[in-house]
Amino acid sequence: MVDKYLTRQIATMQKNTLNSICIVGGGTAGWMAASLLSSALQGSHIKITLIESPDIATIGVGESTVPSMMEFLRVCRINLKEFVEATSATFKLGIRFDDWLKPGEQYFHPFGRVGQDINGFAFYQAWLKNSVDGYGTRWVDHSPSAIMAEHQRFMLRPSQQQNWVLRSYGYALHLDAILVARYLRDFSQGCGVERIEATVDKVVIDERQFIHTLALNNGITITSDFFIDCTGFKGLLIEEALKVGYEDWTHYLPCNRAVAVQTTNAGTLPPFTIATAREAGWTWRIPLQHRTGNGYVYSSQYCSDDQAIHTLLTAVEGELLIEPRVIPFATGRRKKIWHNNCLALGLAAGFLEPLESTAIHLIYKTLVHFIRYFPDQDFEVYTEQAFNQKINIDYQEIRDFIILHYCTTGRDDTEFWRWCQGMPVPDSLQEKICLFRARGQIEHTPDQFFSQDSWCSILEGMKVRPKKYHPLMDAFDGQGLASTLQESAQSVYETVMQMPMHGDYIQQHCAAK
Ligand code: FAD
Repeated sequence: MVDKYLTRQIATMQKNTLNSICIVGGGTAGWMAASLLSSALQGSHIKITLIESPDIATIGVGESTVPSMMEFLRVCRINLKEFVEATSATFKLGIRFDDWLKPGEQYFHPFGRVGQDINGFAFYQAWLKNSVDGYGTRWVDHSPSAIMAEHQRFMLRPSQQQNWVLRSYGYALHLDAILVARYLRDFSQGCGVERIEATVDKVVIDERQFIHTLALNNGITITSDFFIDCTGFKGLLIEEALKVGYEDWTHYLPCNRAVAVQTTNAGTLPPFTIATAREAGWTWRIPLQHRTGNGYVYSSQYCSDDQAIHTLLTAVEGELLIEPRVIPFATGRRKKIWHNNCLALGLAAGFLEPLESTAIHLIYKTLVHFIRYFPDQDFEVYTEQAFNQKINIDYQEIRDFIILHYCTTGRDDTEFWRWCQGMPVPDSLQEKICLFRARGQIEHTPDQFFSQDSWCSILEGMKVRPKKYHPLMDAFDGQGLASTLQESAQSVYETVMQMPMHGDYIQQHCAAK
């Protein structure tokens, strides 16, 4: 009896599965969605179509990533070296922050682990006690990624490593956004995704507020069970048609424009992004194999476009390859990233300034949640709600982490930085900073993206030191701890110095053709 009931339920469920998904937009978001879904849904009957407009350009920036990019490639079963060659990519071990605390000061935010936990205590506590006891090693001396970056070393991790240094480094990629979209387009089409080149002129909504059809400028009409809006900032489906609303975060993060240029490479290929604080924001430098991406993210309240262009052009090295392009944006996210039969992805879902290179990560994370809460034709409101709660937490975590870079500044040399010193800080971040200041602890759950090491790296870089360390650390013998830490830093250094230079490694293993 029970079995019969269950069989009937499953049969109903299967009848209810989606038959089709239509992705609108062929930028990084659109083609990442097509690649991941066509890989994940292999063997199902769900038809995936992507519509991209030949007349509306992609944003063309978005070239620095975080380690989840490697997971994305693995999940799609894309060969890493082939991808690096095709996208003219370089490897990235973290971000160097110049002039954020004060002009002339510098720190590094590395990927991967920093040190190893000691007897169940976070490594930061051991390092803090050691510093208080006067046996100083730098925090980054214990980070394999930071030391690799400092000496411009890189190699892919040899498999099945016993050595903790080789197990602990993290890396991501710098890549050419246009080449990425092209690569993923070919990959997705190889997995059966249908591509339509046309512009969506009209979005037709039914009486339930579901998207019914799309009218294209070539006269064709598209129907689908589900739609993914990857149309960029405007959010053609999620906002212009469904009007879900936007939660504006510009009161926390006032930068609202960027100017971008590409230049020829000058000097070596550093395996890290550089983010330099400037008068009214910050500039990025992203090294690719064939060129460097540069940009200035600034607040229009404190800087005109002309001033921003001047600041950027004065800062760049190498020859200009394109004219400067100004890109306006509003920090925030859609009030609902999934609404009825529409999911917003990429810039259509929201935007946080690219200080920690998290937008492509959020595209991946949104797709992972979407697969976890994958809908059927019933479109239960609880599924959508659970998904929206999850993704909202991810956006908020990243927003807070970005604010941390500004609100801890010691700069007071321009109006912009003086504003940052007294800026509003969300309660969620304030509580985190207070606990850290009190005893060096970071509240953290395993599904959060930024690790405790990441939080400690920014706080230490900005010289925010706790009043004291964890009380139980006093059970450790100070001298014994000091030699453990010295040995740990030494083994990081020795292992790293055996690695090839980053530029040589690329040249030998994955040079762009
Ligand atoms: P877009 O690239 O804008 O693509 C939109 C697509 O929609 C296009 O194909 C267009 O043709 C199509 N389209 C639009 N309207 C229609 C229509 N009516 N019919 C059919 N098709 C249509 N992210 C990072 O992870 N790291 C970074 O370092 C980084 N830096 C950034 C710097 C700046 C200044 C900005 C603004 C963003 C940055 N990002 C970064 C974010 C990153 O660029 C985007 O998340 C990523 O490129 C995804 O863009 P998208 O695909 O959502 O939109």
